[in-house]
Amino acid sequence: MPVVDLPDEAATAAFAARIAALAEIGDVIALGGDLGAGKTSFARAFIRARGGEEEVPSPTFTLVQVYDLNPAAIWHFDFYRVTRPEEAWELGIEDAFSQGISLIEWPERLGPLLPPHRLEITLLFGDQPDARRALIAAGEGWQERLAGILADAT
Ligand code: ADP
Ligand code: MG
Repeated sequence: MPVVDLPDEAATAAFAARIAALAEIGDVIALGGDLGAGKTSFARAFIRARGGEEEVPSPTFTLVQVYDLNPAAIWHFDFYRVTRPEEAWELGIEDAFSQGISLIEWPERLGPLLPPHRLEITLLFGDQPDARRALIAAGEGWQERLAGILADAT
């Protein structure tokens, strides 16, 4: 699986901005990784790169934050507290998946509701306090778009 080295938080932000520039309506980006791995940091940089406001709160408690941006709204989900996949319906995944760009923390909580065409980015802790690595699993439609990024990956 391709790996991108993220030596510090700025590198994570730059990586997120790169992905943000490629994202289109209907995209689902699953952000995997343990607590503190940098999922929210990634999402924050992604949202700002697409013109989102300075304030990008973690959806830890609200479970979803919607950013009404042009040309596509961004739905930032955190499913950590979601125990039944059905709860996700109530949070609007159907609209998000069809009309917006979805960033999903704790995507495994969605089970079979997670679309197969997703881009999966799993953040792992590195060997320095501020170092992370991103594992990339590109679903249908992502391989070509990510060519530039994958060329830089190891
Ligand atoms: P998560 O949403 O995965 O639980 P957060 O994004 O909320 O994680 O927290 C990540 C923490 O790690 C933040 O305090 C951030 O400043 C810090 N951090 C240090 N290095 C990095 C890095 N390379 N990428 C992302 N976050 C980093
Ligand atoms: Mg988080």
